[in-house]
Amino acid sequence: MTESQDLFERRKKIVANGVGVFNTATVKDAKGAIITDVDGRELIDFAGGIGVVNAGHCPEPVVEAIREQAGKYLHTSFNVVTYEPYITLCEELAEILPHGEKTKVMLASTGAEAVENAIKIARQATNRPAILCYTDAYHGRTMMAMTLTSKISYKYDCGPFAPEVYRLPFPNFYRYHGTRTMEEFVEDELKRLHESALNLVDVKNVAAVIIEPIQGEGGFNPVPQKYLEGLRAFCDTHGIMLIMDEVQSGFCRTGHWASWQHYGVLPDISTYAKSLGSGLPIAAVVGKADVMDAAAVGSIGGTYIGSPICCVAASATIKYMKEINLNEKAVKIGQVIMNRLQSLMKQHPEIGDVRGVGAMIGIEFVKSDDQRQPNSEICSEIVKGCAENGLIVLSAGTYKNIIRILSPLVITDKELEKGLSILETEISKAIQ
Ligand code: PMP
Repeated sequence: MTESQDLFERRKKIVANGVGVFNTATVKDAKGAIITDVDGRELIDFAGGIGVVNAGHCPEPVVEAIREQAGKYLHTSFNVVTYEPYITLCEELAEILPHGEKTKVMLASTGAEAVENAIKIARQATNRPAILCYTDAYHGRTMMAMTLTSKISYKYDCGPFAPEVYRLPFPNFYRYHGTRTMEEFVEDELKRLHESALNLVDVKNVAAVIIEPIQGEGGFNPVPQKYLEGLRAFCDTHGIMLIMDEVQSGFCRTGHWASWQHYGVLPDISTYAKSLGSGLPIAAVVGKADVMDAAAVGSIGGTYIGSPICCVAASATIKYMKEINLNEKAVKIGQVIMNRLQSLMKQHPEIGDVRGVGAMIGIEFVKSDDQRQPNSEICSEIVKGCAENGLIVLSAGTYKNIIRILSPLVITDKELEKGLSILETEISKAIQ
């Protein structure tokens, strides 16, 4: 038995089954885009700890900042004693993610918590209870976030769920456009949005719409440009807060600090986590100052929110991302991936779509005789084949028929080339 197998067996014996896992890989150390397992085998990481290490595993300046802060103080609670790393990080976030004239920020520890807080803030800002969300959405596993999450297999027997949550179909052009042009499709979807005021929930009761501009777990589905613009106008008309969840799409993945910057559509509130902290648990809610200030004192916060260690890790991550121009790197890497996968798509009818923004790219697998039928069998074979051949890659989508690429953006040309070659080989093998 290898050491990796032994470790995995120990995991199975002691860890609750409900804590799922994509593959049997283990880790001894990790650097850049490479994970070395406990047997010394090197694996190319196209999963990035589920989109957390856009700046790479263990970037030196981040590790250094953590070490330095650990020697000063670990915890006082920001609810008790004010410390500079929290303030500095908020200032930096407001600078790169301005929400109109004046922006304010609060910190949390995980993406789900950021979402919970964003909803609380929107409710307090509007004095309304209802929330609109989308099919194929993923917002986390705490109770409100889980309620907002769409996929049923994430929440079997976990109810009762939070009340006053209403769900609209996500405008997934690839899956649902049929014979309609993008223009016709968006027009229909916006009509559906406006009709929700008649048949789903009274808009006077709606506090917020929450949307991932590019769905992550749902399969890397970008919202059509005109739909997001129409949604902004809808929210403005009815005094509804527009919350954009950028937990997976943020921090350089799409070539921007947030994907809403790619769309040029401003949210009232937005949420961040994952790659913000390069692996340390830090999340942020960023929003228009008057909206953020609507939350009553004591209604948002917690013992560990914005831990000083995590704050300095996030600040060092942002500085490092700026220094090495990670947004530009994402665009370049994205082009390489897109070109390679699109030419593969031409050879295989089972690849229905290759899509994305920047380096947030997904490959959708379908049945060769019906491009609208998801093909999850092929997808799981590819994930398994890649793992056996030294590449960690994740699937996504309600039907688990989409491969998503979330490699660190500091990946070298050689590593990217090798990873893509493994992926291409496994795709070709699985399809035959
Ligand atoms: N929102 C989105 C868009 C996500 O992708 C995720 C995590 N996959 C979350 C929220 C929840 O984040 P966390 O796992 O840190 O709670």
